[in-house]
Amino acid sequence: MDSPGFISKIKAEDFDAAYDVLYKYTSLPAVCGRVCPQEKNCEGSCIRGNAKMESEPLAIGRLERFVADYHRKNSKMKSISIEKNSHRVAVVGSGPSGLTCAGDLVKLGYDVTVFEGLHKEGGVLIYGIPEFRLPKDIVKSEVDNLKNLGVKFERNVLVGNSVTVDELFNKYGFERVYVATGAGLPKFMNIPGENLNGVYSANEFLTRVNLMKAYKKESRTPMKLVKNVAVVGGGNVAMDAVRTSLRLGAENAYIIYRRDEASMPARKEEIEHAKEEGVNFKFFLNPVEIKSQDGINVSSVVCEKMQAVEGTNEKGKAEIKPTGEKVEIEIDALVMALGNIPNSTILSTTPGLKEGKGGVVEINETGATSLKGVYAGGDCATGAATVIKAMRAGKIAAKAIDESFKE
Ligand code: FAD
Repeated sequence: MDSPGFISKIKAEDFDAAYDVLYKYTSLPAVCGRVCPQEKNCEGSCIRGNAKMESEPLAIGRLERFVADYHRKNSKMKSISIEKNSHRVAVVGSGPSGLTCAGDLVKLGYDVTVFEGLHKEGGVLIYGIPEFRLPKDIVKSEVDNLKNLGVKFERNVLVGNSVTVDELFNKYGFERVYVATGAGLPKFMNIPGENLNGVYSANEFLTRVNLMKAYKKESRTPMKLVKNVAVVGGGNVAMDAVRTSLRLGAENAYIIYRRDEASMPARKEEIEHAKEEGVNFKFFLNPVEIKSQDGINVSSVVCEKMQAVEGTNEKGKAEIKPTGEKVEIEIDALVMALGNIPNSTILSTTPGLKEGKGGVVEINETGATSLKGVYAGGDCATGAATVIKAMRAGKIAAKAIDESFKE
């Protein structure tokens, strides 16, 4: 972001002071300033935005982003002195929840090791949210800050597979474990043709592009570049996938959504960006079959037209019903962005760890699980949610872990 003229009149110390305040209340300001739904959270609560004020809320998200970026480019990270204790804590998963918990604990003096199943740290911030929304050097610099504070990272370690939670305690000497493994298991529609070549989950599609650089010929997992792409879903993940497909060279990129535009869960801003970039939105369509001309690769998707009817469902969205009328759209790739649920690796390999509704790890209000010394939070404990909620859970658990050593 270029500095507007008046910025030059503000002293560097003022930005440092603003950054210190930000850092006190949030852990990843450059990330939150970009991807958080500010219109619902901070800006949604800003009194300047209420009807009586007849004005717009303060652009808190943009300010947060600017201050964090300015600080990253122009100031040195302050070295803080930490009084270390000898307690060892393992954090499983390096997404926003794990990073936040690790950061809070290391600042309190704990010896923290983060175990990450993938070869890069950052969770969805690295493998899910595309570069054009969240530059990866920002995530890297946040991870580097934690490394400078003393947090250790062990990559390519899938807890529950390479090592169990029990072994973290009994073989490797950790005294507390924070599980922050996210919700990385995609949902599918279970319709005919979903196993065809060219049908992806949004997770696979985005991970292969963001993390594996599959658009490069020399990539170890190259991806066929295609012209006609449809993404099924109406959330932020669907917007990320469809906008990514345009950057891969798609000439026709569709969003297929079974309700109307107002019911889409994606941020308004993301929908607007997708429209500006030329995405073709197909509302009131529900895929019922995926077809192939050669029996191997996807060639079209058949959708049933839906119709709005009176009333709303339990989520307050307009009710819809199928009309029986079908349309066929020619495509060479289809991406399913229907939501994710937590992976069961840890639950299935950790005896005594209680599972909650929807395959989540069950926790209480402090993040404690059914197993003594094991805490959990973020998407693995709530189901797919938001960065800021995952970070909040990391903070709550860090506080509870710290207090548990004082009991
Ligand atoms: P994650 O970010 O999922 O991190 C979990 C980490 O744990 C991963 O790195 C994973 O590899 C690792 N892991 C999993 N199992 C194991 C194991 N057994 N052993 C070791 N490591 C393991 N939210 C917003 O607020 N704004 C947005 O704009 C937004 N856009 C999104 C776009 C996409 C494409 C997606 C998928 C999600 C988006 N979200 C957004 C949601 C948000 O990213 C998540 O809610 C958040 O990342 C959850 O954080 P987490 O730390 O709980 O889990």
